[in-house]
Amino acid sequence: MANISGTKCPKCGHTSFELVRDCPTNSNHDMYYIRCSSFSCHTFLHAIPLADTNYLIEETKKSVERRISGVENNIGIVNENIGRVVALIKAFTDKK
Ligand SMILES: [Zn+2]
Repeated sequence: MANISGTKCPKCGHTSFELVRDCPTNSNHDMYYIRCSSFSCHTFLHAIPLADTNYLIEETKKSVERRISGVENNIGIVNENIGRVVALIKAFTDKK
């Protein structure tokens, strides 16, 4: 795609840029860099997170909510079963 904005590399004046994926030193996450596409330059211009963090947070929240709901349902089943066991024990001890 053409550089219709007329943006120039601040170092060499080149007018074409590229997006490259890289992992900065001491980072656990990859980033996208926008840099000058001149092979002899590659001056860094801007960094963009690889992932859409807002989307990831929302998806993680939904996953956690689903898991909590599952745990709550299981706790309900366990409570019902405990009630049945208590009732059986009571019925057994009352017969004696
Ligand atoms: Zn350049």
